[in-house]
Amino acid sequence: MKIIRRRLELLDLDLSFYQRHMTFPPDISPQEEAELVHEIKEWSFSNGLVMVPVDNGNWSRVVHAPVTLYPTIFPKIAFQRAINIQELYNRIYISVTLNTDWLVSQLEKVSAVDDFTGKLYESYNKVKQAGITQPLTGGLFRSDYIVHEDETIKQVEFNTVSVSFGALSSRTSRLHRFLHSDGRFGITGGEDIPESPAEHHLASGLHKIHEAYGNKDAVVLFVVQPKERNSIDQRAIEYQLFEEYGLRSLRLTLTEAQEKLEFFDGTKLRTKNKHEEISVVYYRSGYGPGDYPSDTEWASRIFLEQSHAIKVPSLLTQLAGAKKVQQVLAQKDKAGIPEDLKGPIDLVQDTFVPIYPLDDSEAGLIGRKEALTNSQYYVLKPQREGGGNNIYREDIPKFLEELPEDKWSGYILMRLINPVDVTNKIVRDGEVYTGQVVSELGVFGSALWNTNTGKVLLNTNSGWLLRTKLRESDEGGVAAGFGCIDAVYLQ
Ligand code: ADP
Ligand code: MG
Repeated sequence: MKIIRRRLELLDLDLSFYQRHMTFPPDISPQEEAELVHEIKEWSFSNGLVMVPVDNGNWSRVVHAPVTLYPTIFPKIAFQRAINIQELYNRIYISVTLNTDWLVSQLEKVSAVDDFTGKLYESYNKVKQAGITQPLTGGLFRSDYIVHEDETIKQVEFNTVSVSFGALSSRTSRLHRFLHSDGRFGITGGEDIPESPAEHHLASGLHKIHEAYGNKDAVVLFVVQPKERNSIDQRAIEYQLFEEYGLRSLRLTLTEAQEKLEFFDGTKLRTKNKHEEISVVYYRSGYGPGDYPSDTEWASRIFLEQSHAIKVPSLLTQLAGAKKVQQVLAQKDKAGIPEDLKGPIDLVQDTFVPIYPLDDSEAGLIGRKEALTNSQYYVLKPQREGGGNNIYREDIPKFLEELPEDKWSGYILMRLINPVDVTNKIVRDGEVYTGQVVSELGVFGSALWNTNTGKVLLNTNSGWLLRTKLRESDEGGVAAGFGCIDAVYLQ
């Protein structure tokens, strides 16, 4: 008997994590499924796990956020690794901004061929020439990973601006913890479905940044998009700031900011009508060309950047999140990388997949060749954020053929991470969709540092987000309509 059991254990060890969980999610009757969906709706409406629907003329209706029917099984070791290295990644990106000359030299390469990066960089230069009066810079970051077929985490990208779904991710983990507390739907959660503390921690990060500004009566400015469908995720942080710390916030679009705010006492920022001082400018907008429809928005961005308020993030920190920077950091030979970055990068090197430039450097020439002859293994990315911009696999050669060659260096070529198929169901507007799914884990981090002295005043892990999409869709944006919010079911 002992021998048989030992054999089974050995057999079990040979199976991959996912093969050992082939029976997930549990098989429930249509009636039980309908009951579960109903519970999801009611919990979501009761707890603000909601989004504004597309067709909402007078802003008076919400829908439950798209979520998975069950939390998605996730290898515990991979999860812990992603959490454990977040402070290291925060530190790496802080160091990237502190090595300003080096960062600028990387940005200059893409600014010349990518209009949007060029505009951000030009704006940074204008502010720098006028003089930067606030040495402190804040960051609410998110490092995104997919679990590769070898069960290790591989980084998709590192986001330094407008990271979203912190609050809704906390709520989704609480939803699944509640639904699976008693096993009536076939699984029992408990510690295996940990609650993501992102909602509290992101608010706490913003509060610490506000405290460092030095005027406790000041308010936080959220720079938002007009008609933001994901405003509840943002509002949740605003409400936390008020409830936990008595700290108030304002919401303005980039178009409104310069109109409604003014400088006083040098470059301190305040509202024109009530003279409320702004301590922190927190961007939930401004990351894509669509946020700058005219020169007004660019002027407004420069105006905010020139102010004495602490920016989350500064233009330079936003630019540090360029895909080009990730490509350079991921280079195995670390050629030209500042000395102080080499050690920390070594410690996360295993999280990188190969990324190539498409310029005329040695690596770029390999990249060009791979893009044209082995495109099935790659995704081509421009210097953009926000989803829907990438070119996949066989579409790459055709895309490059139509792109003037002098623009190629504005893109990076990234090896595709190969996730193993997991089955789950997605509930969107009450409808259930079943299929093979792919999940992306995002780990949040909060940071504050002094750009003059290099001193780091805050560097913490701030919870996580799991986003899941049906396998057939290449992109996973939740607001964009491809994916949904999920919780980890650790195994
Ligand atoms: P964005 O800044 O637009 O969010 P990302 O780099 O996150 O750009 O890419 C968007 C999506 O494309 C990711 O969420 C993921 O689903 C998919 N993706 C990106 N890079 C890879 C990769 N190397 N392997 C597999 N999928 C990827
Ligand atoms: Mg992304």
